[in-house]
Amino acid sequence: YVSKSHYKTSKPGEFIFREGEPGTCAYLIEQGRVELQVISKGTITPVNIMGVGDIFGEMALIDGSNRSASAVALEECKVIEVSKGHLYERIEDADPVVRFLISVLMNRIRGTLVDPAQIRKNPDATSTVINISELKDNEEILEKIKMEQSLRDALDDSEYRVHYQPILDFQTGEVAGFEALMRWDSPERGMVRPDIFMGIAEETSLIIPLGHWLIARVLRDFARLKKKLKLAGKNTDLFMSINIAAKQFNDPTLFKVLNRALTVNGIKPQEVKLEITERVLIGGNFVYDWIRKARKLGFSVALDDFGTGYSSLSYLSNLEVNSLKVDKSFVEKMHEDLKMKHIVTSIVNLSKSLNLSVIAEGVETEQEWETLRAMGCNFMQGYLYSKPLPLNNVIALLTKPDTKKKAA
Ligand code: C2E
Ligand code: CA
Ligand code: CA
Repeated sequence: YVSKSHYKTSKPGEFIFREGEPGTCAYLIEQGRVELQVISKGTITPVNIMGVGDIFGEMALIDGSNRSASAVALEECKVIEVSKGHLYERIEDADPVVRFLISVLMNRIRGTLVDPAQIRKNPDATSTVINISELKDNEEILEKIKMEQSLRDALDDSEYRVHYQPILDFQTGEVAGFEALMRWDSPERGMVRPDIFMGIAEETSLIIPLGHWLIARVLRDFARLKKKLKLAGKNTDLFMSINIAAKQFNDPTLFKVLNRALTVNGIKPQEVKLEITERVLIGGNFVYDWIRKARKLGFSVALDDFGTGYSSLSYLSNLEVNSLKVDKSFVEKMHEDLKMKHIVTSIVNLSKSLNLSVIAEGVETEQEWETLRAMGCNFMQGYLYSKPLPLNNVIALLTKPDTKKKAA
């Protein structure tokens, strides 16, 4: 954002700007030295001397207030003007937490205390890049910062749990696999649902270590479950679905971590399904490579929340996934909205012609079960059979004498 055409040259003793003037740009020194000075009680006090490569006058640029010091050329100077425009855009695009921190910092540097009550009374007192009125949202942002910290601590303090939701085969009416779903058992907040914290975990990259933890835990649990089922003389030919967040595509150790957990627990990659949401496909070609790699290693891949990602269907032709998961928002409205039912039918037919299996999510009623089964949907997941459960409850459920939902 340094525009080469905006040079300014100053003779020794010349002011580049004066205290109290509105700040419209910052300066980068190309040649010479500049003194920053403030006038207090009639005397000039130098506060800093800047040389080649230094930036000055940036504070007024960031928070839009007037110059709090004067800048005088000490010798023949050449400075580059850094204009407001691009900086504004960058700050406006920045993460709200970053904006908030900058505003706090600016207020501290300027010696004015942030008084939310005052700001609320007169939010438009100053026109600033970091809009001061934003500070009235600071409770929300502070809450987010606190949450980020707690989420990190939760990993050290073993507050994460994994629940498993059975996935049934429509043909046999029996459990065919599970989806691992994360929970945060927070001492202050109770059992927190993933919609609340997964987004923050992803924004802060906590998802990387959390994902590693999850993989280790889930595959260990899966091995335990299979052992119990074997002892009870039950079917152990099951799969385990693990959700992979977009950020995890950039985790170079993910497959290593997966493979290690497979080896340690004696599980085959064919028994593991990686669920990725349709939205990640917007991410570009490397996602296709990632999927190809996963498949090559033997994992199966499911496209989650299918139909909600607003992406073009053409990607399906070169996407090497094994299954589609019909989002529960479709299943839920299927019986009150005939068009919704047509959409679900189309998704099922499309999947079949592409040789993909279909998993319907959020099946809550017998009526939905019947309709989806009649459509030829392969698997179902929903409260009708079971909510996500802790491992011990899953073991209890599956080692019961009769675990069939319904014969085909
Ligand atoms: P999702 O992957 O679409 O998971 C399915 C969600 O639907 C789960 O919500 C599940 O409890 C819920 N569900 C299943 N059957 C029914 C039903 O019959 N009715 C209703 N109303 N809901 C049902 P949950 O566990 O709250 O998870 C929410 C989302 O959080 C997940 O959506 C997933 O996107 C994310 N998530 C959960 N665990 C993980 C994880 O380990 N990693 C990642 N990256 N994301 C996760
Ligand atoms: Ca999922
Ligand atoms: Ca889903």
